[in-house]
Amino acid sequence: ATNGAKWKFRDSIVIGAYSVSAGWVQLHELGHYFDLRHTQGDRGVTLPGQSGEGYTNPGDDEIEDTVADLPSWSRNEIAKHNFSVKYEKLEAEQRESVDDVAENIMSYHFLKPVNASLRRLTEGQLDRWTYATLDVFRQKVCDGRTWFVDRQTPCNEGTSTYPYDSVQLAVASANDNGGDIILLRPGEYHETITINKPLTIRATRKGPASIGTPFVYAEISAE
Ligand SMILES: [Zn+2]
Repeated sequence: ATNGAKWKFRDSIVIGAYSVSAGWVQLHELGHYFDLRHTQGDRGVTLPGQSGEGYTNPGDDEIEDTVADLPSWSRNEIAKHNFSVKYEKLEAEQRESVDDVAENIMSYHFLKPVNASLRRLTEGQLDRWTYATLDVFRQKVCDGRTWFVDRQTPCNEGTSTYPYDSVQLAVASANDNGGDIILLRPGEYHETITINKPLTIRATRKGPASIGTPFVYAEISAE
């Protein structure tokens, strides 16, 4: 029975002293706080050498752009499961997809067999993180968010699925007090932009982005 008592919502992140010195551990736990699951889904506790369903059957992390993953898999095994060929035979884009989970902050690939340094979040994960910050309990602890810009995609939400098509729109939406990150998908953004607040503008790993109209040197021919 609740007896009309107010249910107070509190939660916390506990990180052991042993692992707190690794920057990715803090990000990993913050990732959970902002609703991210492990890249292997709920198969989190299965370590290399253990058997059972969790060892052979990847779970779902509910993120569209992460491929299937298990903590016990090498890069080759991730490649074979998802693309049916060895890692070294993959196309560049497929290799990126494998690296995206092999080096993912929300993976367990700091363990053997991959032993990767964990430094990646995918665009889908950043979106989910952003949506979580809009939650009433989370927005009080987060002062920044990620905005996506893609000039090929005429959308207007600033998310990875519905990105802005201009840098200026993203700048206008960014928090005036700073902390936001604007990610530019590859392309040339022919805009003259005014930045009037503290923010970060970066390209994605998918390729370079440039802002502004390139100079065109006119040829002057003498009569
Ligand atoms: Zn975890």
